[in-house]
Amino acid sequence: MTEAADLAPIREAVRALCADFPGEYWRELDRERVYPEKFVAALTQAGFLAALIPEEYGGSGLPMSAAVAIMEEIQASGCNGAACHAQMYTMGSLLRHGSAAQKARYLPAIARGELRLQAFGVTEPTSGTDTLSLRTTATRDGGHYVINGQKIWTSRAEHSDLMLLLARTTPREQAGKRTAGLSVFLVDMREVKGKGLTIRPIRTMMNHATTEVFFEDMRVPADNLIGQEGDGFRYILSGMNAERILIAAECVGDAKWFVKKAASYAGERVVFGRPIGQNQGVQFPIARAYIGMRAAELMVREAAALYEAGADCGAEANMAKHLAAEASWAAADMCVQTHGGFGFAEEFDIERKFRETRLYTVAPISTNLVLSYIAEHVLGLPRSY
Ligand SMILES: Cc1cc2nc3c(=O)[nH]c(=O)nc-3n(C[C@H](O)[C@H](O)[C@H](O)COP(=O)(O)OP(=O)(O)OC[C@H]3O[C@@H](n4cnc5c(N)ncnc54)[C@H](O)[C@@H]3O)c2cc1C
Repeated sequence: MTEAADLAPIREAVRALCADFPGEYWRELDRERVYPEKFVAALTQAGFLAALIPEEYGGSGLPMSAAVAIMEEIQASGCNGAACHAQMYTMGSLLRHGSAAQKARYLPAIARGELRLQAFGVTEPTSGTDTLSLRTTATRDGGHYVINGQKIWTSRAEHSDLMLLLARTTPREQAGKRTAGLSVFLVDMREVKGKGLTIRPIRTMMNHATTEVFFEDMRVPADNLIGQEGDGFRYILSGMNAERILIAAECVGDAKWFVKKAASYAGERVVFGRPIGQNQGVQFPIARAYIGMRAAELMVREAAALYEAGADCGAEANMAKHLAAEASWAAADMCVQTHGGFGFAEEFDIERKFRETRLYTVAPISTNLVLSYIAEHVLGLPRSY
């Protein structure tokens, strides 16, 4: 499956932008765990983060395959799209399920980059992957909802104006259907910071700007409920395919970066009087990582094509995410091994990218949950959880 030729200019433009953000830039930020403001501003100004917002709302109205190309090129250039990837897809819930008034109010400002919708509050410390057990509640009080609870791993909350939040509006035992009773809110964090909303950064093994957030009688206007009360889980699920495809594209980009770096080094590094890449023990792992990356890339394209056609792409999006996360992690490990001791040196950027790409077999969905999905929904095996 080849890519449409018209994506070449987009790929080239992303590469040109990324050239202004070399390894040094990322290393410095990584040391202090500082957010890449300049990089995100440059991507925003270039319109890349508004790729999936339709033109009628001021976005570029590009297809999923173009968004895939953007995210992949960012990673393949050695940059880190995790700082802003959510700006690209989190608006999908608003686009698909928001009212006309909500879309007119928020989408053009998001497309212009004036409003950042980068925070996605689903995971909680006690429920983890079992989203339906989340405990954050939203209780109607006149023209507002009053929100109490806690989220964890709410990435980029400090660098976002809006948060898409999933909370329980009907107690589980009264909700009827297992998946009912949860609702989605678009929270304007600028209005509630210090007034019911507290954000605390969590330091992680990579520079990811992730946080835990606490809601204490946080008041959100009822106008900011997305779609129907109680239907929120369905809305969140509907956005997951886009998220999985784009994260998979990032992993493919990472894998390309690792393979290129390793092949180049293996061709140059001379030990025992010959390039290390002349040894099959060195070249085979690089070739294997390349094959893994290509297989993942094809599945990403398949998932993106189905998504664009409006077809069900749940299985392909999950498989793409799985193959790509495995491929990028395998390539990262191979790249360290190929570089020997230098793989651990900060100035080679490998150890940084190694830490960054490790995330994706865990988040936004862990490997086991992808396997469970395929077992249940594709193979017809009994649900295991
Ligand atoms: C850096 C980072 C950024 C993140 N950003 C966000 C964000 O912006 N917004 C957000 O909402 N969340 C975010 N997450 C959360 C992420 O989606 C979760 O960490 C992930 O879904 C796993 O959930 P958990 O950590 O609670 O693990 P758990 O649910 O506690 O699972 C732990 C392990 O057990 C396995 N497991 C659990 N149940 C089963 C089962 N039934 N069968 C087999 N295996 C099982 C899992 O696969 C996993 O390996 C982020 C996480 C990290 C680390």
